[in-house]
Amino acid sequence: MGFSFILLAAGDGERFKSKIPKQYLKIAGKTLVDISINKIKQFNQIKRIVFVYNKKHTKYLKENNLKGVKLILGGNSRSESTYKALIYLKKQKNFKHVLIHDVARPNFSKQLLKNILVNSKKNKTVIPILKIQDALKERKKKNIILNIKKKNFFLTQTPQCFNGSEIYKLHKEKKERYVDDDFSLLNNISKVKFINGEKRNFKITLQDDFNLLKDLYKSNLRVGLGFDVHRLTKGRKLYLGGVKIPSKLGTLGHSDGDPILHAIIDAILGACGMGDIGDKFSNKSKKYENISSSILIQKILSEIKNKNYFINNIDINIIAEYPKLKKYKKDITHKIANLCDVSTDRINIKAKTTEKLGVIGNEKAIASEVIVSVIKYD
Ligand code: ZN
Repeated sequence: MGFSFILLAAGDGERFKSKIPKQYLKIAGKTLVDISINKIKQFNQIKRIVFVYNKKHTKYLKENNLKGVKLILGGNSRSESTYKALIYLKKQKNFKHVLIHDVARPNFSKQLLKNILVNSKKNKTVIPILKIQDALKERKKKNIILNIKKKNFFLTQTPQCFNGSEIYKLHKEKKERYVDDDFSLLNNISKVKFINGEKRNFKITLQDDFNLLKDLYKSNLRVGLGFDVHRLTKGRKLYLGGVKIPSKLGTLGHSDGDPILHAIIDAILGACGMGDIGDKFSNKSKKYENISSSILIQKILSEIKNKNYFINNIDINIIAEYPKLKKYKKDITHKIANLCDVSTDRINIKAKTTEKLGVIGNEKAIASEVIVSVIKYD
């Protein structure tokens, strides 16, 4: 069963006082857009993602991973933006189910999205809701308050799932332009399945909400430590951080012997509680003989992504007497940023020597130590 997903990001967030639009603010180097899209992409049932943006925000788009995502220019209101996305989807093949979601709710869990998809098998419309726990009042006049029985009231969240043609038709025929959510357009709710929403799936409206989200992410931070050392020898190439360094000596190893990437892999595995590099890539296996460590780290990255981790920052020490590495630091940073899906300002490299002491000082080996922090986002 194929689903389409509309991610609405065309709002200009007037109540959120910030120079950068809130959807493009970053937490741990990831924009709210990226955080949502990363999660959505993990569902194979979701065949199409449509991202609706504001033309004033065009310059921010390139900072996001929008590969494979259809971009649609939004309208003047939430409902107009949704309708524009639906017009596009209506023309596509197999347009059956559509999920509509506000980018201002990046903290939905994958479990919530899974529940919505499962429930949509038997129900045309699936809406996550929250019961009201606080006391509910209505101001009738200036000094008159009405106490309301909250039992009959509930709050709706997104993602909301609809039958594609039905929600398209409702949008086409709607009289009111402004609706808070697409569920508001339904007049018959007999075929609606309400499921439990999530408190954590709150909407980021004010700066305070963003701070709360930042705190939540911080509480999911984990740290890992990695260390590696390789002998230097003639007749081998030297790879450091995935970059080939011109050198008369290279590192001895079963793979390409890249001590930086190996230490990063171990630090990532440590942070995610996933063992060590030897568990993952045995040095007895022919498969890994002379393999590029860039390939190994990419395998690890895809594994941790499936477990909902992303890298927050990487701090690296390279300990070598030979060769001098200062001029390669920038290339290595860029290469690692690329391999680890993290921005260059979150990578720090320090090139050290051992003051000519010991095996490293005698140019017989290169070592690297690394600390990585990761964040679990679900
Ligand atoms: Zn190694």
